[in-house]
Amino acid sequence: MSDTPFYQEVASRRTFGIISHPDAGKTTITEKLLLFGNAIQLAGTVKGRKTGRMATSDWMKMEQDRGISITTSVMQFPYKDRMVNLLDTPGHEDFSEDTYRTLTAVDSVLMVIDGAKGVEDRTIKLMDVCRLRDTPIFTFINKMDREVRDHIEVMDEIETVLKIKCAPVTWPIGMGKAFKGVYNLLTDTVHVFQPGKGSVVPDDVRIEGLHSPESVAYLTQGLIDELQDEIELVQGASHEFDLEEYLAGNLTPVFFGTALANFGIREMLDYFVEWAPMPIPRETNERAIVPTETDFTGFIFKIQANMDPKHRDRIAFMRICSGTYTKGMKMRHVRIGKDIKIADAVTFLAGDRSAVEEAVSGDIIGLHNHGTIQIGDTFTSSGDLQFTGIPHFAPELFKRVRLKDPLKMKQLQKGLQQLSEEGATQLFMPVNNNDLILGAVGVLQFDVVQQRLRDEYKVECIYEPISVNTARWVYCKDHKMLEDFKRKAGDNLAIDGGGHLTYVAPTRVNLSLTEERWPDIEFRSTREH
Ligand code: GDP
Repeated sequence: MSDTPFYQEVASRRTFGIISHPDAGKTTITEKLLLFGNAIQLAGTVKGRKTGRMATSDWMKMEQDRGISITTSVMQFPYKDRMVNLLDTPGHEDFSEDTYRTLTAVDSVLMVIDGAKGVEDRTIKLMDVCRLRDTPIFTFINKMDREVRDHIEVMDEIETVLKIKCAPVTWPIGMGKAFKGVYNLLTDTVHVFQPGKGSVVPDDVRIEGLHSPESVAYLTQGLIDELQDEIELVQGASHEFDLEEYLAGNLTPVFFGTALANFGIREMLDYFVEWAPMPIPRETNERAIVPTETDFTGFIFKIQANMDPKHRDRIAFMRICSGTYTKGMKMRHVRIGKDIKIADAVTFLAGDRSAVEEAVSGDIIGLHNHGTIQIGDTFTSSGDLQFTGIPHFAPELFKRVRLKDPLKMKQLQKGLQQLSEEGATQLFMPVNNNDLILGAVGVLQFDVVQQRLRDEYKVECIYEPISVNTARWVYCKDHKMLEDFKRKAGDNLAIDGGGHLTYVAPTRVNLSLTEERWPDIEFRSTREH
């Protein structure tokens, strides 16, 4: 089995995402990874806000105005004999649901830490998400070209705050203006820093042996002695790399460098493609699907609109979990029970859409979506199994949506419905009145919806406060009881964008009382698709 071409293809996949606190350098690292993957000639083309190269839609403009990265994209590049799939995740916490779902589609994660700041809030939260699946984690400590914090202290912080063992693989030699490179603890190699090579792949200059004459000539004996002492301290305070421990999510290999000056990344990437897991099995309602099974399966983890202003369509991102996608193949859309022909799936190579001919487990493909595909949908070559673990979270913030021009009700409903299918916001339609209630996890999402309604649907809307505190999805096997509940609690019931019955609670107290009053009804704070 392991020598078939299909197995080899799957085994070469490395599908991962980057987690970090905003400003730690995720975008910069992404650019540099693509540079090393020869996916772009010149670093700096990943995002419009950096270079203005990409066509600037209003959507992107908003991103620029706010200086944050909202959109998620997928980038594929070959490195050595591996195929790397990088799933970008939004850094802003208002988009944490999106990030959460993207992390369900990866097999491992790269955590980027700002060496001057150490562990920050957002990293802590994202780590919690990774913990749910024991996702294996690589760590890159960035910005060594600056005066940063004591490295041992930062590593300690990772161990204690993030509760993961650290195994340094490279160690920085100096920092700031005196940054000389990194020392590989496993191979006893000095990697010489090549400054000012931000947009080209730097030469790979190595010195074998910390105590070799070349090393003394480059670093001086004094610096080597200092480094030697530091390394002994580090080795005492940290752990040795252990592949099994890494794969179990208990230990992270740690690398140092500077993404901006383009250094230390290759030293990490070389290990990443070796150690990071190939596609891992994924759970369905029937059984775990193993990626090397030849029957095709996949699930949708994200829907994104308007990535290219010339194409006003929406793209559903699918993680392939087993088998091979070939152009023109038929797939079963399990939720709606239909076979559909997929002639034109896309991939996102360095920001350009290109037609995929073939893709295997671990790869991400984009399906053109005209409203029939939702987040969490499963596709198979045959069979009706359903992937699990891709939840919606109950929103925390609610607003009533009102139209400025009442004649545009149809467009408004369509817009709200479609935008909520993308998963960042949720739409609730009360059973007993004609309100449209928008729910979100972060406040920024309301602005995004308002702006996109204007740009994409030509609808001006306004928000009004509404006394809704939280929402719960209602489940009950007893049909009669459910009907009874619907009659009695009708004023607080709504149908969400996916057609599910939802209890919209004006207060937490109201929710608790209702839960007490209806003990046989389930009020769920997450909904699986
Ligand atoms: P993101 O918010 O995590 O995507 O971070 P960015 O990649 O946008 O980086 C945030 C800022 O840090 C930008 O101004 C970068 O130029 C800068 N930056 C990123 N990497 C480095 C680095 O290695 N050294 C220095 N000095 N600055 C860096």
